[in-house]
Amino acid sequence: MSKRIWRRVLGSRRSEEVYVARCSGTTKKGTQCRLKAMEGSDYCAIHITEDPRAPSGSEAIEELESRLTEKMKTILGFGIAAGIVLSALIKKS
Ligand SMILES: [Zn+2]
Repeated sequence: MSKRIWRRVLGSRRSEEVYVARCSGTTKKGTQCRLKAMEGSDYCAIHITEDPRAPSGSEAIEELESRLTEKMKTILGFGIAAGIVLSALIKKS
């Protein structure tokens, strides 16, 4: 009895894992992409431009670029802060 229930639980879990969609994109080798699809899409971040339902490839790239610049700004900010600290340390010694 309990074994059957367990099997059912495991079975449903397995099918859910299959349902958490894998990217429908194809790699350069011609095999299916192994990455997890993004929410609301059948494609991962790399292959999102292949998604016919996506708003447009350029929009996705723009979003990616804005995220990148945001990251770069953060890195730059850290760099500037580190520079200020370093120069202060040099002045002290
Ligand atoms: Zn992919």
